Amino acid sequence: MPATKKKNVKKSNTIKLKFDTSWNYAPAPESKSAATIKKQYDLFINGEWVKPLSHKYFDTSDPANEEKLSEVAEANAADVDRAVKAARNAYEKVWKKMPAKERAKYIFRIARMVQERARELAIIESMDGGKPIRESRDFDIPTAANHFFYYAGWADKLDYAFPNRNTNPLGVAGQIIPWNFPLLMAAWKIAPALATGNTVVLKPAETTPLTALKLAEIIQESGLPEGVVNIVSGGGATGAAIVNHPDINKIAFTGSTEVGKLIQKSIAGTNKKITLELGGKAANIIFEDAPIDQAVEGVINGVYFNQGHVCCAGSRLYIQESVAPELIRKLRDRIETLIVGDPLDKNTDIGAINSKQQLDTIRRYLKIGKEEGYEMYESSCPLPAKGYWCRPTIFTDVAQSARIAQEEIFGPVLAILTFRTDDEVIQKANNTPYGLSAGVWTDKGSKIFNLTKRMRAGVIWANTFNKFDPSSPFGGYKESGFGREGGLHGLLPYVNLSH
Ligand code: ADP
Repeated sequence: MPATKKKNVKKSNTIKLKFDTSWNYAPAPESKSAATIKKQYDLFINGEWVKPLSHKYFDTSDPANEEKLSEVAEANAADVDRAVKAARNAYEKVWKKMPAKERAKYIFRIARMVQERARELAIIESMDGGKPIRESRDFDIPTAANHFFYYAGWADKLDYAFPNRNTNPLGVAGQIIPWNFPLLMAAWKIAPALATGNTVVLKPAETTPLTALKLAEIIQESGLPEGVVNIVSGGGATGAAIVNHPDINKIAFTGSTEVGKLIQKSIAGTNKKITLELGGKAANIIFEDAPIDQAVEGVINGVYFNQGHVCCAGSRLYIQESVAPELIRKLRDRIETLIVGDPLDKNTDIGAINSKQQLDTIRRYLKIGKEEGYEMYESSCPLPAKGYWCRPTIFTDVAQSARIAQEEIFGPVLAILTFRTDDEVIQKANNTPYGLSAGVWTDKGSKIFNLTKRMRAGVIWANTFNKFDPSSPFGGYKESGFGREGGLHGLLPYVNLSH
């Protein structure tokens, strides 16, 4: 090469990526016609669809295009009272008297019907909530069915779950769920309640009520005795009416720490039992001896698939200093390849943000991160013109005290921090008000056990992330709540034990 040309070669540390559009996948959208969504949904009380006494309905829309999908009844206190009365009646007259093995058959039937309708449920979940069809098809719906199967199995084996103890159901359970896993959260709550002989009044979240209402259709078809499960849609006021109803024996809530605290205050001094599954700010810790490429995929799975709409999202990444440059480079390269767009497209990695309000929250945090002076890297992917979208984003060199490292963002945003020693990273990882989940990546089993014993998180994944199974309990420490869902532990909040 001539000397003159050599001079023109510029050295640079900046990696400029350009997404090569010639390698884009062809669109592979799932068909909306495989799902039936009614124009209007009433309340599911006492085994039938009833008009709300409130006479009010609210819209639920598709966050990917802002189009209305349906309108849904808004239950007021009188509607909730009707649902609680139906649940009480079913509890006293039918459900608590039914032999456990008969109860199990109904729960099995619901599980089978969820499986049979899996495709339709997955489509509706993605349309109403914005999550990619790959997630709802491969994770949400099968795991929801598995929870019904799993707890159906326990119904007639409670004596083995709690040996030498008598188990008695509590009565009527009031259950309030969030928008991030609509059908799965309904399954997590309904399945153990029914298996232990309780009846249910459940409220889905206001932005994602449709799959819970589809589940009501399934429950109706399954022949479950009327009033055993009642599903009432509505917003915060409907939830509060459930919490404050005097004839409810147990509250199971999944949602924000803020509302969880309110609920705990309102039931103080009552006999109601309570479990709370609240916010999180999971620490994902990568040591220098970790399988780096596997860890990169784990991080991507932990915080970007699902738009970061998971309370256990690994949104605080701690990297051991020696491997930080390599890992950050790989993560930056990887997020540039993520496909953001139509939730119904089978190639989509990151779907739509659930609501305008949630998108505003995420944007507020992006602004805070920038204003606090952290380096921000945002993928350059194109975004659809309509709907609520957020590009996958990374903040590097983040301080432990930064708001983006302390507060729950609930979006595809990762804060990266570094560390040198085990003690340092444990202290940092534990240093938030939350304690829901965490991840550890290392080659050494001893390090995993040493760390997990000292970390205050309900679930800790080792060399993987965001893995769920009905037999494995889930729940938090500190402001992430208390009580466990899933597994044998998940039966406990629904029974009174006696000798
Ligand atoms: P998120 O931030 O996940 O939306 P929220 O705590 O706001 O969490 O909502 C979770 C669930 O709690 C939703 O079903 C919502 O309607 C319900 N909810 C909101 N406010 C209250 C309240 N004051 N009492 C009971 N339930 C409520």
